[in-house]
Amino acid sequence: MNVLIIGSGAREHTIAWKLKQSEYCEEVFVAPGNAGTMQFGTHATVDIHNFEEVAKFATDFNIMMLIVGQENSLVEGIHDYFQEKEYLKHILVIGPKKAGAMLEGSKDFCKAFLQKYNIPTASYQTFTENTYREAVEYLRNHNYPVVLKADGLAAGKGVIISPDFEHALDALEDMLRNKRFGNAGAKVVIEEFLDGIEVSVFILTDGKEYVLLPEAKDYKRIGEGDAGLNTGGMGAISPVPFADEVFMQKVKERVIQPTIAGLQQEGLEYSGFLFIGLIKVNNEPYVIEYNVRLGDPETEAILPRIKSDLFELFKALHDHTLADYKLDVDPRTAATVFLVSGGYPEGFEKGKEISGLDQVSPDVLVFHAGTKMVSDKLVSSGGRVIAVTALGDTMEEALAKANQAAETITWQGRYYRRDIGFDLKQEKV
Ligand code: ATP
Repeated sequence: MNVLIIGSGAREHTIAWKLKQSEYCEEVFVAPGNAGTMQFGTHATVDIHNFEEVAKFATDFNIMMLIVGQENSLVEGIHDYFQEKEYLKHILVIGPKKAGAMLEGSKDFCKAFLQKYNIPTASYQTFTENTYREAVEYLRNHNYPVVLKADGLAAGKGVIISPDFEHALDALEDMLRNKRFGNAGAKVVIEEFLDGIEVSVFILTDGKEYVLLPEAKDYKRIGEGDAGLNTGGMGAISPVPFADEVFMQKVKERVIQPTIAGLQQEGLEYSGFLFIGLIKVNNEPYVIEYNVRLGDPETEAILPRIKSDLFELFKALHDHTLADYKLDVDPRTAATVFLVSGGYPEGFEKGKEISGLDQVSPDVLVFHAGTKMVSDKLVSSGGRVIAVTALGDTMEEALAKANQAAETITWQGRYYRRDIGFDLKQEKV
């Protein structure tokens, strides 16, 4: 079977790597891909925003499965496009249609869904430019810190945590009046700040049944000790020690089951991954967000722990037999460390030659993100460049191996956090 994966990150490299291990897999194409995914064969040189082009590629290359790695294409309606065309209907699309993708595409939609189905989440209200005055009053009477979120997709940059009223007012003005996030900020969700520890939970669902995948914790901030600006993610750990059986049972009963029931009641057809961003407060799970695809860097930590064949899992999705599917999971810990360009997530230089990959221990997995080949040389082409993942019987062992690999791979200005997993080791949770 031939597969087309949409995306260009380490997440898509990991999915390609995992699929390639299956006996059912013939060719894997990645669009637009990166230097790492090139090792799997031909690159699909299509404009991923042009569905007609993607469809032509899919028919030309006999694609039977389309895996949409990133949210934009789903929110733009790639699944709907493939469903509507008779000649594309046989292709299994992993990822929801536009309506389901709104769970990620609109924070206001997401919060209304959570509230309607009684799923624990921070209290909130949504405002637009027309209700600016009410928003100011709401902020004046709110406890601090408070969280302001641009409604639409803003590549992880649309969330502002304000320590006081003045700061929140500036953020509000920036979003609603100065259009800092363009149309994505036409609505602003203002919500209660939850003080707890985050964990990412993943399911694969057909909208009725689901399989729970391994959970992970990611490290969003650029600096050690979780300081500084937010990034796309600097590392991940799976499993997460504090997501114990009792907690995960609560997640199933209070979050996953009502979410599935809500999808059905709303008539939202869903087929694909659902990523539930949770925060644990006083041992209770609260939903921060839904994402309608896998996370990056969490994918780099969770897929290496899944021993089951990914094709078989997708077949169970197709056949609506997910409820009976027994996922085979490696009990070891996976630690992922992301190597990034110096200066990221602010300005950074690209085009730096990368060295040391040949020195990495063979039992460490290397997944590419912002890389490309220029005249036979591997160079950086983005902020997040390479993720390394190591498995170990303990978190310490996994981290030691991953950190060693991270030290070995280098280029001018490369940076990585040496403290991934630090909070889990302190056992303060
Ligand atoms: P990303 O693309 O990085 O997932 P996003 O733009 O979709 O982010 P959210 O996930 O809703 O936005 O928020 C980003 C981060 O802000 C969260 O991971 C969390 O650390 C913090 N955050 C969001 N909402 C809250 C809240 N109510 N209380 C505390 N922290 C929050």
